[in-house]
Amino acid sequence: MKLIDNVSADDLSQSIVNPVFEPFQNTVIPVAQPYLPDRKRLDAYIDGIYQRRWLTNNGPLVQLLTERLQAFLGVRNLLLVSNGTLALQIAYRALNIHLPVDGKPAEAVTTPFSFAATSSTLVWEGIKPVYADIDPASWCLNPEHITQQITPQTRAIVPVHVFGNICEVEEIAAVAEEHDLKVIYDGAHAFGVGYKGGSALSWGDATTLSFHATKIFHCIEGGAIVFKNPEDLERARHLINFGITGPDVVEAVGINAKMNEFSAAMGLSLLDEYMINIEGREKIWQRYYRELSDQVIRQKRMADISHNYAYYPVVFEDTAQMLVIQKKLLEINISSRRYFYPSLDTLAFFNASEPKIASRDVASRILCLPVFYGLPDNIVSKIIDIVNGK
Ligand SMILES: *Cc1c(COP(=O)(O)O)cnc(C)c1O
Repeated sequence: MKLIDNVSADDLSQSIVNPVFEPFQNTVIPVAQPYLPDRKRLDAYIDGIYQRRWLTNNGPLVQLLTERLQAFLGVRNLLLVSNGTLALQIAYRALNIHLPVDGKPAEAVTTPFSFAATSSTLVWEGIKPVYADIDPASWCLNPEHITQQITPQTRAIVPVHVFGNICEVEEIAAVAEEHDLKVIYDGAHAFGVGYKGGSALSWGDATTLSFHATKIFHCIEGGAIVFKNPEDLERARHLINFGITGPDVVEAVGINAKMNEFSAAMGLSLLDEYMINIEGREKIWQRYYRELSDQVIRQKRMADISHNYAYYPVVFEDTAQMLVIQKKLLEINISSRRYFYPSLDTLAFFNASEPKIASRDVASRILCLPVFYGLPDNIVSKIIDIVNGK
């Protein structure tokens, strides 16, 4: 790909009039590739945007996507926002987690085995992340370890449904109840996952979702918060729009976290094609599941949950072996990602604490393999051979 570097204004105007697209040389197979909907379908939604000229501020497509997602996911009180990071920040604010306790910063017990945003959003809101360790098999927070980290400053528990595996939600609810804490799940990986016949997203006081391009369901950029209580949803609705509650009324410190109509158009188009996307992923997922050797360790999935086939993580015997496999894959132009690495409890700017052993251990040996709609079968075969040490 040619980067726009050392181009004159003349070159630029030329390229605007007559854009020269070099075919995108996607020589390396990525770990995730965004699903793109049929152009005609997307265009039909966009035609409506052009007719209405309503581009943002809770437009009709955002309203329609809200309704359709609630029905599809089987949840209530869903608020669309501009990304999954702001979804977390708004959720903390709506539930007043950010307020100091006795003049000291509030604390939230969270997991070190996650994407950086789970912790960075806490720090950004002035909340101190306090790490509890994960279960070494499920890779989700261990409820007993949560209890050990609770102090008088603790206001919330922020667990993550890691790779779409659901946390021990009943145990976490019991801990929260006993200590009078709020629970905010980072559900960025758990889109569409069911638990015991209901939605896994209905647990906790709030669950956040990310609709970033690389996630199974996306809006290019986007996210959502599913609240337990409608009053929290109403507070959040104002927070994402500068704290404005009516004409000439600003009631609280807000921010801009609104979803726009073009993002909603993408989301609606993808929702129409969701089953095509998922069936394509499931085929690949099932091949890894059946054909990878028992030597590689898989995530122990919670009972009674459904899959969304979003990720295929594998854990190797040690870091050295994992790095060898990653290198061999790259030699034939297949990428894999050390996801999640590093363990967040190693980062001083979050809250490096005493080592969380299980999190650091899994993080040091884990690799996510490519899973996406359209990944060719012969590539999947090559990945399986290399991971199996052939
Ligand atoms: C993707 C992701 C986020 C952040 O979502 P964005 O939409 O990219 O801001 C947060 N937490 C987890 C676990 C994620 O995977």
